Amino acid sequence: MSNIRAIRGMNDILPGDTPYWQHLERSVSGVLASYGYAEIRLPVVEQTELFKRSIGEVTDIVEKEMYTFDDRNGESLTLRPEGTAGCVRAAIQQGLLGVPQRLWYAGPMFRYERPQKGRQRQFHQIGAEAFGVATPDMDAELILLTARLWARLGIADSVELQLNSIGNLAARQAYRAALVTYLEQHEQALDEDSQRRLHSNPLRILDSKNPDTQALLDSAPDLADYLDDESRDDFVRLRELLDAAGVSYVINPRLVRGLDYYNKTVFEWVTDRLGAQGTVCAGGRYDGLVQQLGGKSTPGVGFAMGMERLVLLLQETGALSAVDANLDAYVVSVGSDAQRAALAQVEQLRSGMPGLNMLQHTGGGSFKSQLKKADKSAARVALIWGEDEVAAGTVTLKPLRESDGERQAQQTVPVEQLQAVLTAVLASDTQ
Ligand code: ATP
Ligand code: MG
Repeated sequence: MSNIRAIRGMNDILPGDTPYWQHLERSVSGVLASYGYAEIRLPVVEQTELFKRSIGEVTDIVEKEMYTFDDRNGESLTLRPEGTAGCVRAAIQQGLLGVPQRLWYAGPMFRYERPQKGRQRQFHQIGAEAFGVATPDMDAELILLTARLWARLGIADSVELQLNSIGNLAARQAYRAALVTYLEQHEQALDEDSQRRLHSNPLRILDSKNPDTQALLDSAPDLADYLDDESRDDFVRLRELLDAAGVSYVINPRLVRGLDYYNKTVFEWVTDRLGAQGTVCAGGRYDGLVQQLGGKSTPGVGFAMGMERLVLLLQETGALSAVDANLDAYVVSVGSDAQRAALAQVEQLRSGMPGLNMLQHTGGGSFKSQLKKADKSAARVALIWGEDEVAAGTVTLKPLRESDGERQAQQTVPVEQLQAVLTAVLASDTQ
């Protein structure tokens, strides 16, 4: 019989990688909390209509990437492809929008894409959303927060901030018309995807990867020339705030983002260390979205970061080199009397030293084979209960790692002194 395998593009995250994930998750939630953001936990499945109405009917996500199905009642449901729509839905439904609101969420997202490095069908995001503030100081806060996170993670030198303003709806419509007029004259020279988008979602042509299309765009009308006054002023102000805070950025006039709900500021943090999947965090302002989803008109701005790509970047840059094995002690006990004594005494030790990570050898075996496992575990110390120890009411501590090329001597101590001696041994070992 053939083995059952995971769904293509939906990966197991293995024990060798989870320390990176945990480190990343802790860093992100720590920075978010330090800026006053509160976590919200949202369902993974929503009504399909939510995503159609927010992300937009003619976007890649809604047209071809959603996991949509009818439930047993015939209602059309979708595995969330991103987090903003659900967050806005919840904020409206739960009445969170009367006052400025800073929220963050984390979890898996689902898109039917071609799996490759940094691109999965189930992937994970942490996102933040700020509601109720229309001014660009809010945009600046979100960008500063992410910049601080990269610094804390040690990857600040590997990412670049790209910024643009896409204006209000009227500005985008005027620009869209001008762009279409220009591109229609060169329709045959456009790549296939761009020809398809020319009349459905022409702004997306701006971030076509095709070199010929990009060359055509060099002489295309400029979005910046079509911006409304308010968007232009807000963008100037945002840049002033970032300059004052010492955050550097490049203006990318072709940055438009693939979701329809954005207006004014859009931004991406991009790295050149991960090949084609270079955007590790992306976001922008979406002042119309709350109303579009049935709430009272409320401005919003947010971002989402791709956790898989950030983990790859941490590994790629060595910013977090071989995450430390975090086992303190490996417990060896040979014979049934010793096992009984060890189990009881180790439980006491766990009560006395709650932060200690200890692995109790299970399944028996000789002294030699257990010690081999202890060595392999990369624990700092082996705690050994043998026949002699049990008879004498003692335990042997055997340091397992070398520090400065030397290994501390092993010692046998009365069980009552175990906690004190272990504390001293772990403290004196620089590891
Ligand atoms: P891309 O252009 O790479 O497809 P996107 O614009 O579709 O990205 P967003 O919807 O803005 O992506 O999502 C925010 C972030 O989530 C991205 O910048 C990326 O880091 C991550 N992300 C998006 N799709 C995937 C995916 N399929 N696999 C892994 N990470 C993803
Ligand atoms: Mg995409």
